[in-house]
Amino acid sequence: MMEQEKIQEFRQLLEDWLEQLLSEADNTVSTMTDSRKDFADPTDRASHESDRNFVLRIRDRERKLIMKIKSALDRIEDGTFGICDECGEEISENRLKARPVTTLCIHCKTESEAREKRGNG
Ligand SMILES: [Zn+2]
Repeated sequence: MMEQEKIQEFRQLLEDWLEQLLSEADNTVSTMTDSRKDFADPTDRASHESDRNFVLRIRDRERKLIMKIKSALDRIEDGTFGICDECGEEISENRLKARPVTTLCIHCKTESEAREKRGNG
């Protein structure tokens, strides 16, 4: 089992990360709202549209990341943080440091990527 102290470090890291993402998401929304009125010219409006799509794509990725962070925090709560979803082994601390939201140990992750490459899902 991972030490309580280490788990609390990861909790802090995840909470800071989540807070940062949430405040960035707020900024994105207010930037989009502020600039909308400045695009009267259709050409500008078109490029603004693709900016908007770009922003939305980023936001979609952020949203998924936010979900992952929240579920990592849930796993800290229920004591399953740092345990591989597939094999039940502990995920190495170095791997968790690099990617705190991961749910797979490096072995299972490699396996699942290999499966994806073969096209078997
Ligand atoms: Zn595993």
